[in-house]
Amino acid sequence: MLSQVAANARRSDYRCTVDLDASPEILTGIGPKTAQRLAEAGLHCVGDLLLHLPVRYEHRGERTPIGRVADAGSYTVIGTVGAVTRVFTRRRGLRISRGMVRDDTGELAVVWFNQPYVKDQLREDTVYRLHGAVREGKGGSLELANPSWEPADEAARGIVPVYGAVPGLGQRRLRALLEQILDREGFEAACGEHLPDSSRRRHGLPRLADAFVTLHRPTPDADPGSLTARDTPAHHRLIYGELLALRARIETRRAATPPAPKQHIYASQTALAPVLDSLAPFTLTDGQNRAVREILADLRRPQAMHRLIQGDVGCGKTIVALSAIAAAVESGLQAALMAPTELLAEQHAHHIHGLVGDRYRCALFTGSTKGDVGGLERGEIDVAIGTHALIQSATSFRRLGLAVIDEQHRFGVAQRQRLVSKGFRADLLVMTATPIPRSLALTTYGDLDLTVIDELPPGRGDLETRVLDKKRRREVYEALARRVREGAQAYVVLPFIEANEDLDVGALNREGREVESWLEGCRSRFVHGRLNYEERSAVMAAFRRGEIDVLVATSVIEVGVDVPNARFMVIESAERFGLAQLHQLRGRVGRGPEDSYCLALHGPLTAGGKARLDSFKATRDGFLIAEADLEQRGPGELEGARQWGWPRLRCARLPRDLMWLERARDDARKAVGPPVPDAWQPYLESIESELQTDRAWARRGG
Ligand code: ADP
Ligand code: MG
Repeated sequence: MLSQVAANARRSDYRCTVDLDASPEILTGIGPKTAQRLAEAGLHCVGDLLLHLPVRYEHRGERTPIGRVADAGSYTVIGTVGAVTRVFTRRRGLRISRGMVRDDTGELAVVWFNQPYVKDQLREDTVYRLHGAVREGKGGSLELANPSWEPADEAARGIVPVYGAVPGLGQRRLRALLEQILDREGFEAACGEHLPDSSRRRHGLPRLADAFVTLHRPTPDADPGSLTARDTPAHHRLIYGELLALRARIETRRAATPPAPKQHIYASQTALAPVLDSLAPFTLTDGQNRAVREILADLRRPQAMHRLIQGDVGCGKTIVALSAIAAAVESGLQAALMAPTELLAEQHAHHIHGLVGDRYRCALFTGSTKGDVGGLERGEIDVAIGTHALIQSATSFRRLGLAVIDEQHRFGVAQRQRLVSKGFRADLLVMTATPIPRSLALTTYGDLDLTVIDELPPGRGDLETRVLDKKRRREVYEALARRVREGAQAYVVLPFIEANEDLDVGALNREGREVESWLEGCRSRFVHGRLNYEERSAVMAAFRRGEIDVLVATSVIEVGVDVPNARFMVIESAERFGLAQLHQLRGRVGRGPEDSYCLALHGPLTAGGKARLDSFKATRDGFLIAEADLEQRGPGELEGARQWGWPRLRCARLPRDLMWLERARDDARKAVGPPVPDAWQPYLESIESELQTDRAWARRGG
């Protein structure tokens, strides 16, 4: 297990020699115990230590006399640290250590959270250099929180790197270790250099070994600001190298699986055109037309289609999918449409029936409706619409030609693959309303061709978003009732997670009833994922027909539900939703010609919650929302890529490093597409060996 983590963490760049792969124990002064500590911090080999980049660089000489620390902020102080004590707290999992630091000018409280080892490591009455954030503690007095520390008598001068904490190893130890690695004989050779000189020169990047030296042992004239911001050619070298490895993997995988011909064919354009033209009750937008054209071109190719349609909520992806489905059925093939919720699958079935009537034989396959499995197998059903039920082993098709997946972000790569494998090299169309930031489109979705629909159908009213404290709930519901009297329909969204197995249905019902009590005079109904199928679809159908004014719902309505006359939405406890989810919810209104309103009510806000709601209010542009979402949630979002066995990104930060990602993509494409320039050969070989290691892990089931 550990060795797998270690290997995962390693970059192919640094793989080449024994030295960087070796355990830190080969270094002087590191025994098994310290090696264990390093391993626990994710540093399993010498290469990991090199990639443990400083989080910050300090200008030695900067310090603030303690007596002058008067406001919150970031400080470096030098002083004697008095006895450190561990403080008992009731909150489980929280361990606090406290002490005081003093110099000739004054004293300051110091507090460390969850670092119980501090007490054993700090020697009493020794002079330390402490760096960290000063803030207002309990009772209003200032305290220095979670500072880094090291003995002050140290010789380090000039620009000094400061590393992320490794429990049990002080800054001085870490610095000395890195110095030792840089000074070792053969260090440069051990780093090797896989990047071709030409691309290094083109992007103005240093050699790998030089980059490490700059980062771990900056010259006195270096700029600590740009080093700390990770914005130096040395950083760029690592960022580009890492992203290039990632993209090269995507391209190699592409190149390694030459497209095999599918065995089904589609009717000619002339045969299909009249059917497709009569399908939509409206004129398609340019974006929709382009998407349909691209899909039809894909379908005519001998190889199976792999296309992602990305378009903001309400841009009209359904009709595009239906065109593809119609093309399949008209060609004598079966089509499948998989959606993430029963509600959405039912809506699609309803919609398709509305457009094609009984011309196609459609069947619904969800957890609640066991569709006609036999008919599907015998080929009597043309279009299978459903949820995950479609990919259960019991369902099989006679001649599945096209698999469509709606709201792709709700499904994993494996589920996508399972639906496709119900046919023989079936064409695949996936659709997502969650706008994919370019950074993700270039990584997680790198194996799909992309079509973007970037316009909404004409004739949509305005949509106003307001973010309000829940104290103003009364006003909000009065406004809602007013709109309803004018003929609008409305949604009220409650923050319950449907997937939660322990969901307390009693509490859910109480909450729903409470909201309904504020909606006096309106015809309201409450839907949630725990209602049975008949109840829920009856309510939805009534809402669609306008017999219900207000749909009180959990986030089941988040994706896809389409009722154009619904133009008022209240989101309760909006701070509990993620930004992308809020955007999806809001997409349920603003679908008709009249103006719409989305009112988000919130309780007490954390800084993160406030930032989310600010972004939500500020823009309706799904792409900006997606970038903001990624920014706020951090690069953890890229974890989706992990299921491909990709290494963790250690230096690159997306979307910040998008420019480098794009360069890496272009370079990787040039390199992998034939002919491969000689200079690239070693690089590709190193990637190939890494892929083999991946496969070995997979076989071991690790
Ligand atoms: P989404 O992309 O979010 O899945 P839908 O496919 O549900 O969007 O479409 C949203 C609404 O817009 C539906 O009511 C649909 O009938 C309508 N619509 C789609 N395309 C057009 C168009 N070109 N002109 C007018 N209305 C359209
Ligand atoms: Mg949709």
